[in-house]
Amino acid sequence: MHKYSVRCALCGEIQDQMSLRCSKEHDALLRTSYENPQIILRNLPGIWKFYDWLPVKGIIKEGTGKTITYKSEAFAKEFCLSHLYIAFNGYWPEKNASMMTCTFKDLEAFPTVQRLHEKQDKNIMVVASAGNTARAFAHVCCITGQPLLLLVPQDSAHRIWTLHEDTSCVCLITVKGDYYNAIELASNVASREGFVSEGGAKNVARRDGMGTVMLDAALTIKALPMHYFQAVGSGTGGISAWEASMRLVQDGRFGKVLPRLHLAQNIPCAPLVRMWVAADVSPDVMEVNCPKDMYDDVLFNRKPPYSVIGGVRDALKATEGRMYGIDNTSAAHAQHLFEETEGIDINPAAAIAVAALIKSLEIGAIDPNDTIVLNITGGGIKRLQRDYNTYSIVPDMNVSANDPEAELKIVKKATEKFKR
Ligand SMILES: *Cc1c(COP(=O)(O)O)cnc(C)c1O
Repeated sequence: MHKYSVRCALCGEIQDQMSLRCSKEHDALLRTSYENPQIILRNLPGIWKFYDWLPVKGIIKEGTGKTITYKSEAFAKEFCLSHLYIAFNGYWPEKNASMMTCTFKDLEAFPTVQRLHEKQDKNIMVVASAGNTARAFAHVCCITGQPLLLLVPQDSAHRIWTLHEDTSCVCLITVKGDYYNAIELASNVASREGFVSEGGAKNVARRDGMGTVMLDAALTIKALPMHYFQAVGSGTGGISAWEASMRLVQDGRFGKVLPRLHLAQNIPCAPLVRMWVAADVSPDVMEVNCPKDMYDDVLFNRKPPYSVIGGVRDALKATEGRMYGIDNTSAAHAQHLFEETEGIDINPAAAIAVAALIKSLEIGAIDPNDTIVLNITGGGIKRLQRDYNTYSIVPDMNVSANDPEAELKIVKKATEKFKR
C-alpha cells in the first residue's frame, strides 16, 4: 500500500492521489487516509514532524516551522480557565516558534509545494491571496525555486514581505479590486497552459498541513481538547481541525470525542455566520461593502467551501460546533488583553478568535474547567521585525479587475518573467 490514499468524502472511492475532485463529479471534498493509523512524531524539522499524516513522500528541509502549543497562564488567569492551551503559529523565539511568515498559512504552503514537485509539475503556480497566503507561498517558493504567480488585492500589497533578498521566483501582480476579483483572475489564468492552480481548500495538502495545528495540540495535551477556537475566512482551518480530530480518534490514544469547533468571523463581513445561523445560502446581500472597515480583511471570503460535502457545514454539524460574529470593538479589546498578558503581538485575525473565546465564556457555551485550544493563527510579526530585515516584494504589475485585458496582461508578464 502507498503511504496514503485519497478518497471522495461522499462515495469513499479511491481517487488519483493528485486529484482535486471526485472522478464521479460529486460535490464533495477529497480526503486522505493514511497507512499509519497511529501517528509517530518524526525527528524532522518543522511541520515534517507530522510526516506520517502529510500527503507527501519527501520534505523541504529549509525554512519550515510548526505550531507551538503551550498552556496559558496569564491570559487564562484573567478568566479563571484551568486548561487553556494556546496553539501559537508565528515567530516567538523564546518559545521556539519559528514560522517565519508569521501565520499558519506556512503549514499549507510547504506540503502544497512539495506535492507539486512530486507531481513533477513544471508549470507556474498561481496563488490568489489577501496577504498571508501570498507571504507563505513566496517564502517556500524562494527556497525551492518554484515559479510563483501571486495575485493580491492592491490594498493588501503591504503584507507581501519576505526575509529573502532574492525574490526572482515570484511574479507579484496587484489587483485593483477585492480578494474575490483576485481569486477570479487567478482561476482564469491557472486554467491556461503553462500555469497550475494550487487548489485552495480542495487540495488535501493544504488541509492536512493546517490540520497539524490540532495534531500538535493533541500530542502536547496528550488528549483531544473539548473545544477548538479559530478565526476563519474560508473555514478551511476549521475543516482541517475536524479532519485531524477524526484521525486522532481513529488513532485511539487521544479520546473518542471530537473537539467542538468554535469558529469566528468579523461582523458584518461574516458570510459563514450568516449561512450557519440563518441557514441562508442566498447571494451575499449583507456583504456588499466588504471587506471595507474589517478588523482584518484576511478573514473575508465570498465563496467559502460551506455546503460542499465534507465542508464547513459538515464540520460544524459533526462537532456540534458554533459560529461567532465578532465586532471590531471586541476584537480590539481581546487583542490588547492577549498581548498584554501573554507578551507577544498577534495578528488582528487571531484577535477575532480570542474575542470568540471571551464571548463563549460570557454566554456560557463553555465551562472554565474545559480543555480548550485557542488557535493563534498568526503572531509575532512585530517581534520578527525587531530581529530581521524584511523586504517588501516589488509588484511586477498592477491591473484593474475591470480591465478586459487584465488576464492576458498577467499571462504575458508571468510568461516573460519565467522564460527559461
Ligand atoms: C487565513 C487566515 C485565517 C483563516 O483561515 P481559514 O482558511 O479560513 O481557516 C485566520 N487567521 C490568519 C492569520 C490567516 O492568515
